[in-house]
Amino acid sequence: MTDPNNCIFCMIVDGRAPSFQVSDDELTLAFMDIFPVAPGHSLVITKQHYSNIFEVPPNTLAAVARATRRLALAIRSELRPEGLGLFQLNGVAAGQTVFHYHQHLIPRSSGEDLKLHTRVRGDDDELRATSLRLAEKLATEP
Ligand SMILES: [Zn+2]
Repeated sequence: MTDPNNCIFCMIVDGRAPSFQVSDDELTLAFMDIFPVAPGHSLVITKQHYSNIFEVPPNTLAAVARATRRLALAIRSELRPEGLGLFQLNGVAAGQTVFHYHQHLIPRSSGEDLKLHTRVRGDDDELRATSLRLAEKLATEP
């Protein structure tokens, strides 16, 4: 169990750590994964600290689903990937690496191997540019 004081996603929510933010609502925050496995790889997280699916209240999970759908539409419209993978991992055995509930949105291309994490940090300028494109697209949607 991660202490929320030392949780990187809690630090992003309360501004103690930077992020390339895409959207923000009462219960969720969306931003670019800084270790992207594909251009546009982004995350939707709960603002409150929940370690995994087993802890997230249903209404908060519904808010994550709504934010994920909006972001998925923005990614499709702006980045036009061939496919879009949604991944959500619970527990070390499942491959979870940050123990704060999060939903991955990963643009996918035919023939690519499926991977959800990488140790290669993304380029800040590219992450910023993509986050701004997606945020602007979301700002024009109801
Ligand atoms: Zn947290």
